[in-house]
Amino acid sequence: MLNISQKTINSKISCNSIGLHSGSNVTMKLIPAPCDSGIIFRRTDLENGKNEVKALYNNVVTTNLGTTISNEFGAKVATIEHLMAAIWGAGIDNLIIELNSEEIPIMDGSSAPFIFLIECAGINIQQEQRRFIEITKSIRVEEKDKFIEIVPASEFSLNLSVDFDHKHILEQKFDYRTSTTSFKNDISRARTFCFQHEIENMHKIGLAKGGSLKNAIVVSDEGVLNEEGLRYKDEFVRHKTLDFLGDMYLAGHQIIGHFTASKVGHSINNKILHEIFTNKDSWRLV
Ligand SMILES: [Zn+2]
Repeated sequence: MLNISQKTINSKISCNSIGLHSGSNVTMKLIPAPCDSGIIFRRTDLENGKNEVKALYNNVVTTNLGTTISNEFGAKVATIEHLMAAIWGAGIDNLIIELNSEEIPIMDGSSAPFIFLIECAGINIQQEQRRFIEITKSIRVEEKDKFIEIVPASEFSLNLSVDFDHKHILEQKFDYRTSTTSFKNDISRARTFCFQHEIENMHKIGLAKGGSLKNAIVVSDEGVLNEEGLRYKDEFVRHKTLDFLGDMYLAGHQIIGHFTASKVGHSINNKILHEIFTNKDSWRLV
């Protein structure tokens, strides 16, 4: 059905920015990786041999305003979802990501700078075939008023909806179809966002220290505070779609199935992956 080769990048490439939550400066380098290695994070500021974390759902340790993974030695990598989304969107299977700090650089708050980096490095088509996780039985998880449901389908597709009960972000829906949606054009530029009234609280708990109008949309009661306005009229639901795709790639492979997701966040996104992998009869590797 799907005969696609695995891919990595052609050459090393780096970038530099601050972490959204930590506020600290971080340099990140993307490095080509051999077939079947998957996506691996490597902290160059930590001891060799204890500093690698695989991008897998069961390494997720925190889902509060971002997805953080860790290995058994406590080496953490925070806010991985926008980079993971870009890697998914660019169709990269194997990659090493080196960084000299705990948090992925936030860049402009979207996945577009990472897509640009991957395009600059170039795509390398590898020998082995890509494997997919094909959903064979419907699965559903719920968390208060949020839910995610997956049903078997011949390709990946997603209906995602948000409803923030705020006059400037009412109900928005996005329909992602592998055949007609372009990750780069339709999703990658959508930035992370928050409400102005949440900022003080985030600072109190030590989050969003690097946040600014340069890397996030801020919404007040009057509307969007960013001078340049929105990049898409429904940028909020597109960003939630971006986060969702990044989190789903922690399955270790792209998933084939039709997803319906409502009011989702990093916590329930991780929950559906645990649900898939504990129900061994609901999927197969193809
Ligand atoms: Zn995000």
